[in-house]
Amino acid sequence: MLATTIDVTVNKTEHSKLAGFSLENLPFGRDFTDHMLEADYEGGEWKNAEIKPYQPLLLSPSLAALHYGQAIFEGIKAYKNAEGDAFIFRPYDNFKRFNISAERMAMPQVPEEIFIEGMKQLVALDKAWIPQIPDHSLYIRPFMFSSDEVIGVRPSENYKFLNILSPTGPYYNAPMRIYVEEQYVRAVPGGIGYAKAAGNYGSSMYATAQAKKKGYDQVLWTDAFEHKYVQEIGTMNVIFIIGDKAITPDLGAGTILAGVTRDSALTLLKEAGFTVEERPLSIDEIIDAYKAGVLYEVFGTGTAATITMIKELRYKDFVMNFDTDKWRTAPTIKKWLTDIREGRREDKYGWMVKV
Ligand code: PMP
Repeated sequence: MLATTIDVTVNKTEHSKLAGFSLENLPFGRDFTDHMLEADYEGGEWKNAEIKPYQPLLLSPSLAALHYGQAIFEGIKAYKNAEGDAFIFRPYDNFKRFNISAERMAMPQVPEEIFIEGMKQLVALDKAWIPQIPDHSLYIRPFMFSSDEVIGVRPSENYKFLNILSPTGPYYNAPMRIYVEEQYVRAVPGGIGYAKAAGNYGSSMYATAQAKKKGYDQVLWTDAFEHKYVQEIGTMNVIFIIGDKAITPDLGAGTILAGVTRDSALTLLKEAGFTVEERPLSIDEIIDAYKAGVLYEVFGTGTAATITMIKELRYKDFVMNFDTDKWRTAPTIKKWLTDIREGRREDKYGWMVKV
């Protein structure tokens, strides 16, 4: 059993980097705040939980994570409302998903004291780094990796959990051109597609680079056997508006990450009057709907970009083009979500957790 109380000690920096630093229009993931959280898993328990000045790690060349990739992460955002109060968007959902990823990667569960309470303390301490500017936020990146200094292939006995914070400006999310992938594969049933494991990202980069050479921004992954059923895009889930339905691939096969933004968007789509269907969706059905003129919108959902419209979808030689300027659904859902996060729309689903 994990200990029921784990205290996080706090050592504050004496020199904040914030003085003279502009929080406006920052690119995603480049700048980090004054503090980070670090904790160690040793001898079957979590210890040394500490918030301390942001600093490099000293790692052994034999560190297991560098060789065999037991490494997982999460992505969460914090916002400020007009009064300057800080809120984190649905952190308990990411907490659950993190421990699902941990289990699949044979890593230890991280307790709520470290993941949630530690995150709240860290964000509260670096609250001044949350931009109070529309479409800006503080990106929160909890992660864990195996830290045995042994290059034997087996689950580590030691792990490190860290959390770092990065202020970020509006994500560049011009409508995207997407290539439907039918050669490379991201995930298979029984694999780790549903886990937010570092290897899922490393293994996706080659196919994405190939699609970029052809002029596309990202690939839409398809199932490993027939390359027929669509899965997800880069770091986004995908939703299709067909007729009066919002249709998205179901999570049943364990090949898709259960996005928190996906769940939020589906909730808001229901509120907007759509019938929501989570089920296998084939590229043939998508093409038929396009030809029949009832494929109205296609968009991606994810923490970094919120909602990203797709202006072109290419399958083999068949190209589907969309006039995203005329769309109403994706922009409305994006606005509702942003308004909830920045405190301009009622938080009726209890998504915002005050720091
Ligand atoms: N799929 C993948 C592979 C992702 O990395 C992400 C980003 N976490 C998503 C979907 C969207 O998930 P979320 O809405 O929780 O950010």
